[in-house]
Amino acid sequence: MNQTVQRIGMLGGTFDPIHIGHLRSAVELHEALSLDQLHMIPAQQPPLRGQPQVSPEQRLALLKAGIGDTPGLVADDRELRRDGPSYSIDTLAELRTEYGVQTRLVMVIGYDAFLRLTHWHQPERLFAFAHLVVIARPGYNDSLPASLTELVAHREVDNVVTLMQQPSGGFLSLELPSLLAISATYIRDRLEKGKNVRYLVPPPVEQTITDLGLYQKRE
Ligand code: ATP
Repeated sequence: MNQTVQRIGMLGGTFDPIHIGHLRSAVELHEALSLDQLHMIPAQQPPLRGQPQVSPEQRLALLKAGIGDTPGLVADDRELRRDGPSYSIDTLAELRTEYGVQTRLVMVIGYDAFLRLTHWHQPERLFAFAHLVVIARPGYNDSLPASLTELVAHREVDNVVTLMQQPSGGFLSLELPSLLAISATYIRDRLEKGKNVRYLVPPPVEQTITDLGLYQKRE
């Protein structure tokens, strides 16, 4: 890529399992933001959901199978290797240390996750390390609560070029071209009922789920 300053993205999630809503968004983010690399970072296990649990190692294996050889996307297991609660702010701090002060670092979240941002650990501190890019997600269009507007309003820019003029601190709302109304909840639900998930996940992910019998209801 013909850029002197690196551009690095981070897309965290439970990826339980990875699906094409994540992967197509990742590819389109890579393109829209001209990223050198997008780190896809599985979080520690979410609280029990009352559905069959899949281990962090299995979620990571599915993520790797989903990414395959897609250029610019990397499965990054750092949060799974860390003890205790895993905060995005710690992950961003680590990435900033690794990539240096000039690198453009972008944390990406979907609009549904953005609506919960004020409940995160120290949300305002993330801007010291990274930009925040929020991507539209079909089915989520609640208006922003005042606390969130307050957090981002003075940081908002309306295009990628302006965002990338600084290493961190900006906020951009993006609508990527392929809006996919697919969630991991929907996929887990289908698998639990013994239904197929073909084309909702990449073929190697479907194969791994079948081979290991993941997300199936145990009798
Ligand atoms: P679940 O249904 O289990 O809550 P999910 O499908 O929302 O899972 P996560 O792993 O929680 O997947 O999502 C990781 C990140 O990807 C979040 O920021 C989320 O908003 C975003 N994301 C998930 N699915 C999509 C999608 N279809 N389009 C755009 N963004 C998405």
